[in-house]
Amino acid sequence: MTFSELGLRAELLRAVEEQGYTVPTPIQRQAIPAVLAGGDLLASAQTGTGKTAGFTLPLLQRLAGGGARPGARQVRALVLTPTRELAAQVGESVADYGRHLKMRSHVIFGGVGQQPQVDAIRPGLDVLIATPGRLLDLHQQKHVDLSKVEILVLDEADRMLDMGFIHDIKKVLRALPAKRQNLLFSATFSDEIQQLAGKLLDKPAMIEV
Ligand code: AMP
Repeated sequence: MTFSELGLRAELLRAVEEQGYTVPTPIQRQAIPAVLAGGDLLASAQTGTGKTAGFTLPLLQRLAGGGARPGARQVRALVLTPTRELAAQVGESVADYGRHLKMRSHVIFGGVGQQPQVDAIRPGLDVLIATPGRLLDLHQQKHVDLSKVEILVLDEADRMLDMGFIHDIKKVLRALPAKRQNLLFSATFSDEIQQLAGKLLDKPAMIEV
């Protein structure tokens, strides 16, 4: 199995090759076609499995295929992560894999000045990677418009719940349009996660690795 057999476009295959990856990992083999098909996804995967590329590559392909440009302050794909470290890591992957596509992405998290984040969001973004608290702060101040989000990713959802982000996540969900693609990644499946998945996901493809 190769990346090109998974249906990825040339710009992404080139970026994957430049990363030095030759064989897709098990989660990538399952997640990439599922996300490209456009439906919701529930995936159980630990870090180290290659899950980041598993959602980032098909997400970028869907955005590139749609061809739309984000309007001022708008976001086309939103990735929520529990920590600034993970946000930064996902942001790097988006930039690396998207290097041959014209995609604007940015990472925002708390504990640093907000003005550079406001300035980065203002022209609109294809992909925004964010921790929930800072995203809500910026949303409440109307610096970000979430009404045009096409794809939502909750990465390490179990850790977000453990860190007490459930209310923030619910507030973010209320700002999103009803019609969108939802991807939920979690290492564990507590009752709380299953509840969230039940509310958030519509007939999801299920992946366990
Ligand atoms: P992740 O689970 O997304 O945090 O990825 C774990 C590590 O695996 C990262 O350092 C990636 O760069 C690397 N990686 C992801 N996909 C592949 C692949 N198909 N082949 C080799 N390394 C990979």
